[in-house]
Amino acid sequence: MPRKRTVTVLGTGGSGLTAAIAAHDAGANVQLFEKADLVGGTTAWSGGMVWIPNNHLEAAAGVADSRDEAITYLMSMSHGLIEQHMAEAFVDAGPLMVRHLCDHTPVEFRTIADFPDYHAEFPGGKTGGGRSLDTPPFSFEALGDWEHRVTPSPYYPDPRLSIYDTPLGQALPTPVPEEELARRSRNRERASGQALIGRLLRGCLDRGIEPQTNARATELIVRSGRVHAVVIEFADGTRQIDCDAVILATGGFEWDESLKRAFLRGPMTHPVSIETNTGDGLKMAMRVGAMLGNMREAWWMPVAEVPREEVSTGVNLIAGIRSLPRCIMVNRSGKRFTNESANYNAIGAAFHDQDVSAFDYANLPCWMIFDQGYVERYGFPVTSGAPGVPPPQWVARAPTLAALADRLGIDGAALDATVARWNAQVAAGRDTDFRRGEAAHDQWWGDAMQRGGPGAALGPLDEAPFFAVELKSGALGTKGGPKTDINANVLNVDGEPIVGLYAAGNVMASPMGMTYGGAGGTIAPGMVFGFLAGRHAAGKPVLPLDAAEQNA
Ligand SMILES: Cc1cc2nc3c(=O)[nH]c(=O)nc-3n(C[C@H](O)[C@H](O)[C@H](O)COP(=O)(O)OP(=O)(O)OC[C@H]3O[C@@H](n4cnc5c(N)ncnc54)[C@H](O)[C@@H]3O)c2cc1C
Repeated sequence: MPRKRTVTVLGTGGSGLTAAIAAHDAGANVQLFEKADLVGGTTAWSGGMVWIPNNHLEAAAGVADSRDEAITYLMSMSHGLIEQHMAEAFVDAGPLMVRHLCDHTPVEFRTIADFPDYHAEFPGGKTGGGRSLDTPPFSFEALGDWEHRVTPSPYYPDPRLSIYDTPLGQALPTPVPEEELARRSRNRERASGQALIGRLLRGCLDRGIEPQTNARATELIVRSGRVHAVVIEFADGTRQIDCDAVILATGGFEWDESLKRAFLRGPMTHPVSIETNTGDGLKMAMRVGAMLGNMREAWWMPVAEVPREEVSTGVNLIAGIRSLPRCIMVNRSGKRFTNESANYNAIGAAFHDQDVSAFDYANLPCWMIFDQGYVERYGFPVTSGAPGVPPPQWVARAPTLAALADRLGIDGAALDATVARWNAQVAAGRDTDFRRGEAAHDQWWGDAMQRGGPGAALGPLDEAPFFAVELKSGALGTKGGPKTDINANVLNVDGEPIVGLYAAGNVMASPMGMTYGGAGGTIAPGMVFGFLAGRHAAGKPVLPLDAAEQNA
């Protein structure tokens, strides 16, 4: 009988916990280490959605999907950055990962009806949902001693609600009944990323895999060409942990200024991930000769600075609220510069545009401008203000556009002209400058009561007072790191596997290039390559599938 392998997993986000479960279920002893004092990483802070094309729940939701369509979709958005074999690995293993977790752990998924892919009009894209999955709420009581050891999300003030419960997750928005919320409170249920991590963590605990927290991995030990140990700093000292394989699931490098300066394609000043993601895994992999890939990219996200008493991190994500009618984004020239309703990852590129004459970034700084009509209809969703409630005092406001421009230090005449042009386009029902409101994404993320047409995203700015919030270039995390093969085995600079070393999640060279396929587009590849890493490290690789398995 072959000796049981010992696999060490570093990091307790979605990628790490999935890797731990997969390695255990393939027969390995698993040890799991986490740098922070609480577990779950950014995944626990997230919406907890996962984007898995061709998953087994789609058919039940009435969506036809296929391996070919999913690969075509990803490759159509590659711009030379996505390697076909890695896209294929993701598409082939995704449904297997979902099935494995649903069959063998407390993890459950459900489809969100009609939630479109982020670039649904590309070949193989889906306008009718199915690929974006959500995790139902989970009772944290089931975690026993671990109930209070999952990092709470600063971004979702009511942990009982998932995206599924909000207008974004529903074809016909319906609030969750009070009795259901009360039931969730009684059961100590948490939703979104909390539910995903809670379920994965329960799956680990059921297998006897207990994370060790305050345990920061710092160095990989290589002997005879293979990684056979990792050095970990514990509260009471540093120890070498021997093993047969190490899986890096330590998140991105978005909290390390020098790594960001060295690699990212443009400014990214406001990460919204957990602050322990400082590129430790990247540095460990570089020290043992890993080839790097996709280093310029991040999961981009426009962000606003907010008072810490409103959101403890001092920032908030500006995602769906940009898509609503009656707001636009302008740069310091007072001009619109992009489709404000585009998905957050795509918009990141607009922050990196350069004005070559001025030798400066053309769209930084920039502002989201909205009017009283927006406040009446949608409130101030940056900090969850209800419709009609005036935005807090820190939000800039003025009775006229010229006065607002003056306050922001931008050209008032230009802002007036921009808004006049925008209002005329809205009246004509078409944004001829940036095609806002045309894509299925824009129509879904805009006003839920006007879905199915450009009106979900188009609306005039014509009711004083006018408001402005400055937007910053942020990210959910970086997505470059050690390159891997299809089973998440890290490659060296000569393209050979580094025996015993794996990477999954934001620490790895993302197989997604610059793309964000749909809601759940970042956690999904992390969990899929975590699954592949765990299985391969334990000696039971998933890939390659044969032709029959690919089409099963
Ligand atoms: C508000 C919000 C909503 C989001 N919603 C979604 C969504 O619905 N769907 C989606 O796909 N994406 C979403 N994202 C993005 C997503 O959360 C991340 O991209 C993803 O969770 C990253 O997963 P990961 O496993 O790679 O890293 P993480 O979940 O960040 O986990 C990495 C872990 O590694 C630990 N670590 C770091 N260094 C070391 C070390 N040296 N030793 C040991 N441990 C270490 C960290 O402390 C951390 O716990 C959202 C993000 C935010 C902020």
